[in-house]
Amino acid sequence: METKELWNKCLSEIEMVISKANFTTWFKNTSIIKEDVGVIHIGVPNEFVKDWLYNKFHKLILKTLIGNNDNIRSVEYIIHKQEFKNESNDKTSKVNPQTILNNNKELPLNDLYINKDDNLNPKYNFNSFVVGPFNELAYAVAQAIITNPGQNYNPFFIYGGTGLGKTHIIQAIGNTIKIKHPLKKVYYVSLEKFTIDYINSIQNKNPNSFKEKYRKYDVIIMDDIQFISGKDKTQEELFHLFNTLYEKDKQIIFSSDKHPNFIQGLEERLQSRFASGMTVQINEPDYESRVAIIKAKFESTNCIIEPEIVSYLAESLEGNIRELEGSLNTVVCQSQLKSKSLTLSEVKNLIKNNIKPKKTVAIKDIVKIVAEYYELEEAVIYEKTRRKEIVKARQVAMYLLREDFNISYPLIGQKLGDRDHTTVIHSHLKIKDDLKTDPSLLQEIEKIRIMFK
Ligand code: ADP
Ligand code: MG
Repeated sequence: METKELWNKCLSEIEMVISKANFTTWFKNTSIIKEDVGVIHIGVPNEFVKDWLYNKFHKLILKTLIGNNDNIRSVEYIIHKQEFKNESNDKTSKVNPQTILNNNKELPLNDLYINKDDNLNPKYNFNSFVVGPFNELAYAVAQAIITNPGQNYNPFFIYGGTGLGKTHIIQAIGNTIKIKHPLKKVYYVSLEKFTIDYINSIQNKNPNSFKEKYRKYDVIIMDDIQFISGKDKTQEELFHLFNTLYEKDKQIIFSSDKHPNFIQGLEERLQSRFASGMTVQINEPDYESRVAIIKAKFESTNCIIEPEIVSYLAESLEGNIRELEGSLNTVVCQSQLKSKSLTLSEVKNLIKNNIKPKKTVAIKDIVKIVAEYYELEEAVIYEKTRRKEIVKARQVAMYLLREDFNISYPLIGQKLGDRDHTTVIHSHLKIKDDLKTDPSLLQEIEKIRIMFK
């Protein structure tokens, strides 16, 4: 088989097993450059793609290649700029600015329509969903639920800050279940609408209609459940509904901006039920994921974007994906109005008001807060003491500096008593691991976070 044919065959197999957004973001503009006694050299457009393919898809790539040619032993990735340039020029010549203007008034998928029977919006699916370290656990659980709704992860409780993709992922689960299990009745409802439904049924003196309606579904998806705080009657109703559905192995999915333990005014029995299945946090996207999201969004508009602009946007637009989309919209609209791709300085000028100052922090302030929380002398954190409670506080400080403020391991080590960076990595991973099994540690850390807000 010719190398070109081999790679095309592999690409078509890879395309089947990963999301479309990931496929187009990472595999577009790749090719086999050469084969050298069992070593395949894959050409990639830039350093990001190279790292990402190696870290995330290496096994899949190697397995697929070997599946098509069992002489292959290994894969190398090399940056191959020329090809990328040609392809993007190609594309430029094909794009007619007028069609862009007509077809893409808005960057996100147009609001198609919301299905009246299940409230799901078909624009939310996994084709357009980028997966990265910030949401990959949620994504993996979502896929398991789609395969076997109600069986393994029940309830599925997903939480995280605003604009990070909670609504997108839970609706995409609903939409995909409808396709894969056409007989299952799926229903999406915001907590607000659920409450209104309940109040209406009381006012119309017909509470049974409400009960019957919600008990007939196989999959219930409830969005923004944090708004249940303080609504005692709604909580009571939800408690009974939960039990009925749960006993019948119906899949229940919740989203919230907080972990169940931190929803104020939530009955304990509901709190423990919410957290009794799989509870997963979605974080803010890291730099590489922002690159992938930006590329995927531009891809959907046919707009051309230079790699340096992608890097600039990904560096400047931290935080939530909704805001990131807003800024991308601005760039796309301008570029459509001018019927040309924008230069970096035009882009900088356009989005300067959307850029928030980066979170900055003095390391010693965080250490001070952590020491204060654990009632320790600040100085002991920097010293060599190995007393258990001090080691723990030190590890929590390192964890927070890395996790929340993205400070490099070597710098954390250097500032916290000249420790080696491997010690910092170990501490970070240790706390991360402990958090999976220790809810009281989670509470401690959340309380510390409140102290430095
Ligand atoms: P939340 O419900 O957490 O506030 P949304 O689900 O409404 O956030 O997401 C905000 C916007 O970002 C939506 O337009 C959504 O389609 C988009 N989005 C979120 N996550 C992703 C992702 N992983 N890949 C691509 N787009 C995303
Ligand atoms: Mg939402």
